[in-house]
Amino acid sequence: MSFRELGLSEKVLQAVDASGYTNPTPIQEQAIPYALAGRDILGIAQTGTGKTAAFTLPMLCRLEMGRARARMPRTLILEPTRELAAQVEESFTRYGVNHKLNVALLIGGMSFGDQETKITRGADVLIATPGRLLDFSERGKLLLTGIEILVIDEADRMLDMGFIPDIERICKLVPFTRQTLFFSATMPPEITRLVDTFLHNPVRIEVAPPSSTASTITQKLVASAPGAAKRETLRRLIGEAKDAENFKNAIIFCNRKRDVALLHNSLQKHGYAVGALHGDMDQRARMASLDAFKSGEVALIVCSDVAARGLDIPDVSHVFNFDVPTHAEDYVHRIGRTGRAGRSGIALSIVTHADQKYIDEIEKLIATKIEWMNEKPSASEAPEEAPAEEPRGRTRGGRGNWRRASPSSGERPSPAIAAAEPDDVLPPRLPRQNVKSRRRDGREAPERAAPERVAAPERTERRPRAQVSNDPPVVGMGDHVPMFLLRPVKLKPVKVVEEQD
Ligand code: AMP
Repeated sequence: MSFRELGLSEKVLQAVDASGYTNPTPIQEQAIPYALAGRDILGIAQTGTGKTAAFTLPMLCRLEMGRARARMPRTLILEPTRELAAQVEESFTRYGVNHKLNVALLIGGMSFGDQETKITRGADVLIATPGRLLDFSERGKLLLTGIEILVIDEADRMLDMGFIPDIERICKLVPFTRQTLFFSATMPPEITRLVDTFLHNPVRIEVAPPSSTASTITQKLVASAPGAAKRETLRRLIGEAKDAENFKNAIIFCNRKRDVALLHNSLQKHGYAVGALHGDMDQRARMASLDAFKSGEVALIVCSDVAARGLDIPDVSHVFNFDVPTHAEDYVHRIGRTGRAGRSGIALSIVTHADQKYIDEIEKLIATKIEWMNEKPSASEAPEEAPAEEPRGRTRGGRGNWRRASPSSGERPSPAIAAAEPDDVLPPRLPRQNVKSRRRDGREAPERAAPERVAAPERTERRPRAQVSNDPPVVGMGDHVPMFLLRPVKLKPVKVVEEQD
């Protein structure tokens, strides 16, 4: 099927042509005709399937008629992270070259003033993260009553980040008659409830299930000892990849943001031009890192899952899992950064003996045995390290099967690492907000995208859902009773004064 057969306008077809796309992807083929007809859509699709164009292209066609009014955007796209929001803005620039549309971006970490100017001028398309959008709306600077099309993208990611109450509030602020285009890679019960409440008779479109990996990706496992030996293994793999002709650039994943910083330092020390991306970096630093990687200024970038999820960096040749992800679904997302839109890619995972159980879960999820480049890691290898896991409160062992996270995933550097590499790199000092995010049990709070809201700190419902505990409720002070409460109390005799009328 061609793009022309989908019913897109001439202006949009020209832009698609200029983008070099010859045929629509399955999600585009199925979603675009319904989106043009004004139907609500439930798209179950991952990033990398072309879903951004699946909602952007029909929106552009529908926006060709009518004009935006001050403070009343015509369409609204909600994204879980600032990077994804910025990426969708880029798509509008690319596909909307022949349209004179005002596109406004409302994301945290950027100046309120500039964003307000754009809104006041009148936005045809408003792309926002939920927190900043609600701030604008609560301050009366934005009216959502003119919204004709609402797009909720990466809904399961929103759920992971605790944004669902915000999404519900926003859905109640936009007109009942709007069209809703809703995208999620997975459909946990909370998302199904949201769909049932806010979508009207949606067309359900499902493309590649979230447990599948593209056949264009060559996946391999590389056994390694933990600690400094693991970093050496990574350097060796990078060297070998660079020697092979197909190397262009690589994303290197770590499980914890502190390990992102540690590995970044280590690679820099070894002379690599490398960027970093994790949730504790401020917005400008994140954008700068991403831009340097996208433009080819640096060929390597070390990332955490939260920072990298959903990022569209076309043409990544290699993905290295420096840490095996402890959640099998993260593996699918990570390696999906390469081999996009039919291109080939290579995904290599460095596996220690302790990681073997995670590999088993990954292989079960993707229903594929991943080939080893060398011998499987044995228990007799170098001293074992604590599993490199960003504590999340609970872990997923297959869809819908939640378990409590291992308490061993503590914040302190493992003794094995500390002992094995005193002269290599020390963990960098944690930034202030990270110190704040320590939980009472001393563990590091799960990573989430940097807070996008600068005002209204009193709102607390947007906690990452992973922090919601299944433990029995704590009665009184739980196990801990302060000493002063245990001291015997000496009461002074009370003088009773008779009340007089
Ligand atoms: P997305 O799933 O929206 O993140 O898109 C993934 C990548 O596919 C992006 O780099 C798009 O530019 C690219 N893409 C989207 N649609 C097409 C298409 N029809 N043909 C080729 N590439 C596409």
